[in-house]
Order: sequence, then C-alpha cells, then structure tokens
Amino acid sequence: MAEIRFASRAASIGKRPPPIVALDAIKLGGGNAFPDLLPDVSAEAADVATLFRTEALQYGPLYGLPELRQEIVRFLTEDGVTANVDNILILNGAKQALDLLLRTLVDKGDAVVVSRPTYLSALSIIRNHEASIIEIDSDEGGMKVDELEAKLRRLRAEGGKLPKLLFEVPDFHNPTGITLSEERRRTLVRLAEEFDFFILEDDPYRRLRFSGEAVAPIKSFDTNGRVIGAGTFSKILAPGIRVGWANGDPAIIGRMAALKSEGGCCPLTQRIVLDLLRSGRIAHHIAELTPVMKRHRDAMTDAFRLHLPEARFRAPDGGYFLWVELPDGVDANAVTLEAERDGVIVFPGQLSFASAPPVNFIRLAFSYCGPDQIERGVRKLCAVVRRQQTDVSAQPGQAEALSLAGRHYD
Ligand code: PMP
Repeated sequence: MAEIRFASRAASIGKRPPPIVALDAIKLGGGNAFPDLLPDVSAEAADVATLFRTEALQYGPLYGLPELRQEIVRFLTEDGVTANVDNILILNGAKQALDLLLRTLVDKGDAVVVSRPTYLSALSIIRNHEASIIEIDSDEGGMKVDELEAKLRRLRAEGGKLPKLLFEVPDFHNPTGITLSEERRRTLVRLAEEFDFFILEDDPYRRLRFSGEAVAPIKSFDTNGRVIGAGTFSKILAPGIRVGWANGDPAIIGRMAALKSEGGCCPLTQRIVLDLLRSGRIAHHIAELTPVMKRHRDAMTDAFRLHLPEARFRAPDGGYFLWVELPDGVDANAVTLEAERDGVIVFPGQLSFASAPPVNFIRLAFSYCGPDQIERGVRKLCAVVRRQQTDVSAQPGQAEALSLAGRHYD
C-alpha cells in the first residue's frame, strides 16, 4: 500500500481499531446508558414515521426543527436560563457543540482552557483543532479559578497568548464528579469579560442530581453573550438518539450553523425527542433514572470501601462517574490493561489529562452496569490492584502506552 501522507492532526491517532470487548465484559468505562431503563420510543417513532413522514425523511432545517428549538427554550427556563429560539442550534450531541465552537472561534495554535483533569473526549476534539491547551488544576471545589486568574494576569503582563475559549463541565464534572460553586461560576464569567474569552458550559448531567442543591448554570450569570451552553439528551434519554443543542449569542450560533458540514440534524429523531418532551415523558424518565443511578453509585462506592479501603474518592452527588485515586505507586495503565484481560473495562485516568498525567487515577462509569455487576467488577479490579501492589517488578508509569489517544470515549 502506498505511504499515506497524513495531515499532522491525523498522524499519531487512530492507528489501531478500537479493541474488541468481550461480550460478557463488565463495562465500567464509557458513560453508556443503563440498558434496563432505555425508554421504549416505538410509539413515538411510529407516529413520526406516519404523521410526519415527509418532514422526517427529508433534509432537516439547518438550525433544527423550530418547534424543538422552542421546546429547548422552555426546558432551559427550568434552570433559570433565559433564551429565545434564535439562541438555539440543534446538534447531534453536546460534543458537536464543542467541535463547532472551536471551528467558530479558535484558529490553529490558539489557546483553550480546560480543568485538570477534564473530559477526555473534549481533549481529543480540542487537539483535532490543533489548539494549544492550558490546564488549570482542580481541588475539591473543581477548577481553581484563582489559579486561572493568576495565570491570565501573568500571561497578559508577559505579552503571552491569552485564551479564546474555556471549556468546563460545571455539574457532576467528567471525570471528577464535582459541582462548581456559584462563586466560582461568577468568577469565570467575570474573567471571560475581563480577558475577552468565551466559555463553553457543557452540562449533560445537571438533571441527574442524587443529593444537595442545584447551582445556577454559568449561563444564567452571563449578561454579555460570553457563555455558550451545550446540552444533550444522551444522558437523560438515550445516547443513541444523538440530539443535543447549543445555546448562545445568535452571532455565534449563526456561524456554528454555517460551519456544520452535514447540514441539519436528523429530523426523525428530533421529532421523537420533541414528542417525548411535550408529553412529559423525559421529565418522568429523569425522575425514574435518578434514584437508580444513585443506587449504582452506592454499589460502586461500597465495593471500593470493602475491597480497597485505601482507594481515595469523593462520592459524587450526581452524574455518571467515579474518579478514583489508587494507592501510591500503583500504575493505573497497567491496572487497566490487566483488568481488561480479566473482563473488566475501566478508563485510565491519564486520558483525562492534557499533559504530564499522574499515574494512579482511574475513571469508572456506574451508569451502564447494574449493582451486582458493579460489585463484581470493582472486586475484580481491586484484586488486580492488589496483585500490582505485591508485584515487586512493577514499575509505576512504565506500563505499555495505551493506544487510546485521538479516539472518542464517552
Ligand atoms: N460532555 C460530557 C462532559 C460528557 O461526559 C458526555 C458523555 N460522556 C457528553 C458531553 C456527551 O456528549 P453527546 O451529547 O455528544 O453524547
């Protein structure tokens, strides 16, 4: 085969196909939906296919179905966000909001701020745009906005390149599960104003709260079009339906729409989502799903407490993920590879860092497997950790480099 002269952004990624995961593997890696609670949408799908056949099977409008955009506006008011139809662009998921916003605002080499750690797929998407990444450390309250402010002041004083965009997951952060305080949210908006950057507020988990009080969205503190909200039905309905949205200033939304390469999103699935929103089934689904996800979380945290009491984690108040710090000296890459051989899939924490990853973190999703499988999976995983701890030849950080870069994991 001819030597392929790849574009630089493609040269080092996707060299191997995704690993084939055993059918009976315990999947605690990606944030998939719990299969038992995937909604039955057959009636809505049949209605759409018959009553809206000509709409559903044509190209859709570039910005999305007007009625769905209107319904999203209503949905957002429940969170204290004011918008109108002109602010809403329907997308095939929240990740597309990040991709299009990068196309809209960020040239090659421009800087984008993320928390450290951050959502691993966001890192892949940002890298695809050849942006440079500024990581800001997190503590138990999430992104350290004081550190961000100090960094921005330093950059300005030194004539360095200020960022154009900041990406943040403020509610039940992926991977840490932390919710950013109102004070930090307000600080982000103030800094965006002062240092002239935009904020992408990626908020797929907001409605999946197990305990504690909701904090107002960053977007609700934005008076000047600095914040673009990204939402999705992936976590509150089904990821396979591929419907999400962006909420932003029409000047930005218009450019994001113009930079879409596939035209409008699928009208069939949009119409199904619209029906489910209007009938109240999505609200009902969220009410049913939330306590189930809490039970999954409890099964996972209980299993770690029992099988690996030295593991450090914070039980999240919502969302899909548990972020676990393994005992010092344990190599999470090696654990991940060996656990995979034992039929348990987890993600090594290194995927959530843009640079210099620490070696002993793992990310687990409690969304997909039921409590019994979670207990079994964590027990097996902890046994792998124990073996690592007693393996005198194990060299932290020396495990085979994982060939995961550049893929999209959820
Ligand atoms: N953003 C974050 C932070 C996520 O964790 C996920 C799913 N894991 C998504 C977005 C989902 O994106 P999409 O709507 O494209 O499915």
